[in-house]
Amino acid sequence: MGIRTGQEYIDGIKSRKPEVWLGGRRITDVYNEPVFQQPIKEIAKLYDLQHDPNYQERITHICEETGERVNNAFLNPTSKEDLRARSELFEVYARATFGLMGRTPDFLNVVVTGMASNSWFLDKYNPEWSKNIRNYYRYIRDNDLFLTHAIINPQNDRSKASYEQEDMFTHLGVVEEKPEGLVVRGAKMLATLAPITDEVIIYSFPGFQPGDERYALAFAVPIDTPGLRLLCREQMQDGKRSYFDHPLASRYEEMDAVLAFNDVVVPWDRVFLYNNVEAANLLYPKTGIAQQPAHQSGVRGFVKLAFAVEVTCKLADSIGVDNFLNVQTDLGELVQSVEVIRSLLRVAEYEYETTETGEVRPAAAPLETIRGMLPTMYPRAIEVMQTIGAGGLLMSPTGNDFKNVELRGDLEKYYAGRAGVSAEERVRLFKLAWDLCGEAFGQRLLQYERYYTGDPIRKRAIFYNQYKRKATFSMVDDALNGAAELLKNDDKKIERTING
Ligand SMILES: Cc1cc2nc3c(=O)[nH]c(=O)nc-3n(C[C@H](O)[C@H](O)[C@H](O)COP(=O)(O)OP(=O)(O)OC[C@H]3O[C@@H](n4cnc5c(N)ncnc54)[C@H](O)[C@@H]3O)c2cc1C
Repeated sequence: MGIRTGQEYIDGIKSRKPEVWLGGRRITDVYNEPVFQQPIKEIAKLYDLQHDPNYQERITHICEETGERVNNAFLNPTSKEDLRARSELFEVYARATFGLMGRTPDFLNVVVTGMASNSWFLDKYNPEWSKNIRNYYRYIRDNDLFLTHAIINPQNDRSKASYEQEDMFTHLGVVEEKPEGLVVRGAKMLATLAPITDEVIIYSFPGFQPGDERYALAFAVPIDTPGLRLLCREQMQDGKRSYFDHPLASRYEEMDAVLAFNDVVVPWDRVFLYNNVEAANLLYPKTGIAQQPAHQSGVRGFVKLAFAVEVTCKLADSIGVDNFLNVQTDLGELVQSVEVIRSLLRVAEYEYETTETGEVRPAAAPLETIRGMLPTMYPRAIEVMQTIGAGGLLMSPTGNDFKNVELRGDLEKYYAGRAGVSAEERVRLFKLAWDLCGEAFGQRLLQYERYYTGDPIRKRAIFYNQYKRKATFSMVDDALNGAAELLKNDDKKIERTING
């Protein structure tokens, strides 16, 4: 089949009945549920871009194995050109959503491509697992599927391991083996966009210890698999909010869900790994699933930060406050933060590494640096936006006010910006900003940037420890040795002076 259209993606959504719970209700028709409608359409637009002559060559390619056109997320990069082709895709998708949707289909499709092209490492443990992930890759590539994932355990008692929790199956684990597959029970979080995806893939960060065997597992199942319950967080919009009043929240709400597996049977051919702590701990380092998706996240994060900065600059300009030095300094800082991320991305792509098997990966250190810096740079951009918009962010009238002729005169007079900026222009801009920096929608976007791929605090500590393992600190030695040489000469002179 190859690349799907938006309508084919929507048909897929309509054909399934996942067990979705939202606000105490069982959602039986995901497509027609207001909160999911527009986000589904936004994802469908991405599928349509694959057929748009302006984008097709940039975001898809002809698959060598099948001769069909497939998305660049399924490209196993073996050259810097391949890496650029990936980057093009990430940027096209990110720009289409202003970077506000983090888990667009390219993200997990890249993960599975990475796992499949490095599946050799699983052969040592079980060649079936290796075969399964390769077949699964072909399946999602050829059907152009959209996946969600849940890699962490729910927040119960973080001071205890999974097997130490009060109920052995609070965290997702294997209950038993059956002829038809593995029976799994327990929860995983936090599956972004889960209700409107086709499949879910489960795997974990490294860190398993002996005793964690039943929790060391990786597999994928359709999102409507019996026993799989999707527990959505509270919606941040009702799907009925006006595009005038909430130009972003009304379009890009990415629903998140806890996944509860109530004795779900995972068919054997969908099991990629289980009951093996060593293999589970090696999944990340061996398959490059830290680096390849971090490339997508880096590009997307760059677009999102650049968007927030553009909004802030326009906001400042619209009310003439960017003539003040303090405002210019803040805006300059934000523009520089965009430049930092852009430069890091270029370095990651330029200083790529080639693995023993010929896979080309963007350099890890600059990507990890983006990961470390965005959790402070994005919140800072939001803080500056709040500071510059100030009281005006709260004082916007609604779209309905503008429709009322009785109010029109007052609105045009009191809500106009600097010369040349009409009231409606200014209010629409302020509403865009408020979605990003005030609404619950915007707070989630901020929390996403902090946590989307793990705890930034621990990730930075890991980054330092890895740096320390490789570092020789030779410049420090050179400086000390140079001074020691000079000291020796000085000492000789002093000795000669003292001793005559
Ligand atoms: C909006 C959003 C969308 C997300 N989407 C997805 C998704 O699609 N798929 C997915 O799998 N995950 C997703 N995540 C989850 C993300 O992976 C986690 O939020 C992240 O790994 C952090 O884990 P946690 O939230 O459980 O925090 P915790 O690990 O519980 O941390 C809570 C606090 O305690 C501290 N802490 C906890 N343990 C330790 C420790 N051992 N040592 C030191 N300090 C510690 C942390 O620093 C932090 O301050 C998403 C998260 C957000 C916010």
